[in-house]
Amino acid sequence: MKIKLTYLTIAFAISIVTATLALGQNRRVVAEAERVTGDRFTMSQRTPRGTKVVSVSRPGAAMLAAIDSGLADLFAVARKNGYSRRLNYSDYTVFIARADREKDSQGGYSPDIAIGAAQYAGSVYDQGGYIYAAGMVISNDPAAFVIADHKRDLKRVADIVRYEGEHLVLYHNDRRRYSQTADHSRGGGHPILQ
Ligand SMILES: [Zn+2]
Repeated sequence: MKIKLTYLTIAFAISIVTATLALGQNRRVVAEAERVTGDRFTMSQRTPRGTKVVSVSRPGAAMLAAIDSGLADLFAVARKNGYSRRLNYSDYTVFIARADREKDSQGGYSPDIAIGAAQYAGSVYDQGGYIYAAGMVISNDPAAFVIADHKRDLKRVADIVRYEGEHLVLYHNDRRRYSQTADHSRGGGHPILQ
């Protein structure tokens, strides 16, 4: 009886430590997403398939379904390439930020986020210290990326999710290929996995 109690106590203590670590990790990732986008993320929920979604405003059902659909495409092409790690919906956190523009330079519907230019400074993407991006990886581990909120063209959302997810699948399955494709300022785009 005494042994059993001790075991339970240890298990309970471990679960508290695990939960505390996860909370700290989540705070770090949310802080990074807020730094990159300048937004405040106050909403958190899961898609029907279990992907974590953290957002500025509550996303509609179509937006959540598009995220699952993009991840489904990602997992299928990842398996085709022989990768097996991080292929669960619950492995991913998707941040939905406020769009910093609704249209691209040609006038097409293109909700994007403005991010600091960094390695893109002086390139064709540079808008004067920042660039517009459809999405961006926030954290490799845990796997998290940010996209802009969309009111329509949810096919575009699914594509962006698949594309940002490619960087994370490669990070966890093929570090060499990840390094070769992580920085688009040196050329190369999406899809990476065929
Ligand atoms: Zn990319």
